[in-house]
Amino acid sequence: MYNYWNSRTRGLSPYVPGEQPGDKKYIKLNTNENPYPPSPKVIEAIRNAAGERLRLYPDPTCQELREAIAQTYRVKPEQVFTGNGSDEVLAFVFAGFFGPDPAYPLLFPDITYSFYPVYGNLWNIPFRAVPVTEDFSINPKDYQTSSGGIIFPNPNAPTGKALPFQAIQEILICQEKQGRIVVIDEAYAAFGGESAVPHIMEHPNLLTIHTLSKSASLAGLRVGFAIGNEALIEGLCRIRDSFNSYTLDRLALAGAVAAVLDVSYYREINRKVIVTRERVTKALTQDLDFDVLPSEANFIFIRSSRQRGAELFAALREQGILVRHFNKPRTADFLRVSIGTDEEMDIFLNVLGKGAMKLTLKS
Ligand code: PMP
Repeated sequence: MYNYWNSRTRGLSPYVPGEQPGDKKYIKLNTNENPYPPSPKVIEAIRNAAGERLRLYPDPTCQELREAIAQTYRVKPEQVFTGNGSDEVLAFVFAGFFGPDPAYPLLFPDITYSFYPVYGNLWNIPFRAVPVTEDFSINPKDYQTSSGGIIFPNPNAPTGKALPFQAIQEILICQEKQGRIVVIDEAYAAFGGESAVPHIMEHPNLLTIHTLSKSASLAGLRVGFAIGNEALIEGLCRIRDSFNSYTLDRLALAGAVAAVLDVSYYREINRKVIVTRERVTKALTQDLDFDVLPSEANFIFIRSSRQRGAELFAALREQGILVRHFNKPRTADFLRVSIGTDEEMDIFLNVLGKGAMKLTLKS
């Protein structure tokens, strides 16, 4: 029945998300979820919203949530756009601000969030993947050139490496002169990186993208948002309102408002994630002979000096630990490991320690 597909559908190469196994037997370190539960206030707000009013459509403008975000991030509600996970916000960004001139390709790193080329293909946007440096850094100079716009995560994924705002500023200034937008995907900024949000007033071409999936422990709720100049936000609203007026349901809106306002709860759990990340990084490099890229995210990108990435991925899976392996030339020997609880990470280190011992004995 594939002949019912149109040429657009035939031409797609969809994104493949990390596995979500149905059983509980795995330690899940593969999709950068937060290992700690959402704030109790979020659960309470969703319970309160699960009532008779579900009969009614939700607020299409998401006003209350935009006000809560504005308050927490010290911006104006008109500078905030909300959507069904940051993936949806990103899909709208690609549709609204990039392409179609092949002389001016969208630029993003060759090692980055693998949804970007998928959106590029979906919307027929010419793009060029810019190689990250030998040590997997984004070189800001590479993005000070003519382009059809720029997008990258800061910290980058799956490397975890972050740029200071000063480096991003150079790119913003250069691209503004050419009338191009710079989109900074801050999915992981709560884990140590420097956010660009305080600079949206100085740079009308700066758009930052955020998600409640990682730092707010709400991957299951599907809420993301963008912060930037009012005109950029209006552009995103035009795209959304030509697609689906109600991208966020009443339960998601209620939970998201509570999450965004409970700053102290999340500061505390994310601090714990950072402490665990540093401890695991130290153990991997000092005791287990791994290379670990310096991470400012809730995951680490690691390479064993003894085992290939694919082998190690399979061995960990066998032991009930799921991580992520990106089987591309530059990343094939690495694994991306989300930071779990201390208990989970101890099991992970233990399994690696035993594996390394076996290999040492063999050689
Ligand atoms: N941006 C980056 C860099 C990500 O890693 C992810 C998570 N896969 C997302 C955006 C999307 O997150 P969500 O749709 O859950 O908000």
